[in-house]
Amino acid sequence: MITVENVSKSYGATRVLTDCSTAVARGEIVVVCGPSGSGKSTLIKCINGLEPIDAGRIVVDGTSVADRETNLPKLRARIGMVFQTFELYPHMTVTENITLAPIKALKRTRAEAVKRANTLLERVGMHDYADRYPANLSGGQQQRVAIARALAMDPIAMLFDEPTSALDPEMINEVLDVMTALAQDGMTMIVVTHEMGFARRVADRVVFMDQGRIVEDSPTQNFFEQP
Ligand code: ADP
Ligand code: ADP
Repeated sequence: MITVENVSKSYGATRVLTDCSTAVARGEIVVVCGPSGSGKSTLIKCINGLEPIDAGRIVVDGTSVADRETNLPKLRARIGMVFQTFELYPHMTVTENITLAPIKALKRTRAEAVKRANTLLERVGMHDYADRYPANLSGGQQQRVAIARALAMDPIAMLFDEPTSALDPEMINEVLDVMTALAQDGMTMIVVTHEMGFARRVADRVVFMDQGRIVEDSPTQNFFEQP
């Protein structure tokens, strides 16, 4: 479903990704880990076309992300992205945050979009908060809304960039639980995280990055069994 082939990328003179290759099959859960600054975040931004690549190829569901003919906004709309800092629209309620893109980009009617939002809020345990504003929610609650918002676009895959790193410890599990349920439902997921317990329990594969290179790409069991 997602193929990364020999991808390299620099910011100016700084090489950030060097010859990275990996592939994620439909329904597969891949955790990406490695030290800060190793290129994890850049790699997933390249996968949904938020950042251009200098060399190599990224193919998502048969479409090459870097092709000039590729409709990037359309492709990006099919990949759900969840960031470290939830990035909800502060002036909109929870429901408005979730329904905005489906109404604007997928031309859903408001009624359809609200119905779907309610279902998704139920799924992330936030159905009692539909009319709240983000500022009145905890970090964990905001992140669960951000996940619901991404799911509202009916994505073919979900990318998570350190989704629990900005959370207080007691909120981390409520977000990881939602992600675990999503994984069990068969969603294709790439998750950048330092939560090795989550990786061990949920990931099919672990990719380890260091200084812009993928230095290991192993089935989860092998990754954790190493000396
Ligand atoms: P990680 O997610 O593993 O912490 P990043 O992908 O965020 O790593 O960053 C990899 C390297 O690229 C770091 O050295 C970072 O400072 C640099 N970098 C990231 N984004 C930019 C940018 N927009 N411009 C210049 N350098 C960047
Ligand atoms: P993350 O690893 O989660 O991306 P960072 O703090 O590394 O978090 O980056 C936050 C933002 O700043 C990102 O959008 C990244 O592209 C940008 N960034 C990171 N390093 C640099 C840099 N050296 N120069 C310019 N932008 C950067």
